[in-house]
Amino acid sequence: MAITFYAGKPGEGMSLFRDQPGVTGPEQVTPGRSHDCDSAAVTDAGTVTPGRSHMCDSSIVTNRRRVTASGSQLVLSIFPGIDLFGLGFEQEGFPVVRGPDPLFGGDIRTFRIPAGKFDGIIGGPPCPDFSKARRSAPTGYGLEMIDEYVRIVKEGQPLWWLMENVPGVPNVRIEGYSHQRIDLNAREVGLDQNRHRHFQFGHRDGLLISIARGAKSTLFEPCCTASEGTQMGRRDWHKFCRLQGMQDSLDLDQLTLSAKYRAVGNGVPVPMGRALARAILNAQSPNEVRLCGCGCGRPVSGKATYAIAACRKRISRRD
Ligand SMILES: [Zn+2]
Repeated sequence: MAITFYAGKPGEGMSLFRDQPGVTGPEQVTPGRSHDCDSAAVTDAGTVTPGRSHMCDSSIVTNRRRVTASGSQLVLSIFPGIDLFGLGFEQEGFPVVRGPDPLFGGDIRTFRIPAGKFDGIIGGPPCPDFSKARRSAPTGYGLEMIDEYVRIVKEGQPLWWLMENVPGVPNVRIEGYSHQRIDLNAREVGLDQNRHRHFQFGHRDGLLISIARGAKSTLFEPCCTASEGTQMGRRDWHKFCRLQGMQDSLDLDQLTLSAKYRAVGNGVPVPMGRALARAILNAQSPNEVRLCGCGCGRPVSGKATYAIAACRKRISRRD
């Protein structure tokens, strides 16, 4: 099965540190707080031993957590399905481990992980309960699965977590982590598909992410949905896969027609995952970046409250 993905080569992207892997600027940390350094960072207090936890009495250190080489960050992907989300991270150089999924007979409820092994946890719990397209009353399954997501993060204590869902999903706050919501349309990351997705991000050191967004595609293809395989006017398989960010269609012949459309249609388009992965490599402290007041996750500059005109309109509609 030959699979090639949307644009660029693994590791190619917009990382600010592309030419200097592992090099970051100094970061403020709380004086006297214990932390791990894996570089022989020189602080005002002198050289420290790589990998040894220690107390720094200087407020300026090179912190392991800002070392941005993606290969050093192990990601766990939960609710993976066929895991287009994780593939986006792999395309940016992150090693990805996949948790259980009903598609392969797995159950998240019996899944346990050790603490401190994963740097990041990604995943999109099932979203029908929060979707505008829902035709029946919420079943409670969506909230139960979000609770499972939160449990896994609490167990694993990663540096950061990223959850994908629909805009109607409630805020997911996890003790010990910052919280950021991000809106993203697939047309902002180079696809023709008008797929609007919503992400929530948490970081143990309070870092924020901002997505490098391009001008929207001038083409407008309706969103690929999980049920498209059962519909009369469904787009052909190759086009469907391309719209989800794959140059070649996936060979999923072991699945029924509707199941393979569901598997791909449920996924996070590969370029979206890649854009998020790059943003995480470039996560910034709240001192370095200010975000739009509408909650879309776009950075703002100067005295601006909103990033774009649509943000201001969104807020005035809410009032
Ligand atoms: Zn905004």
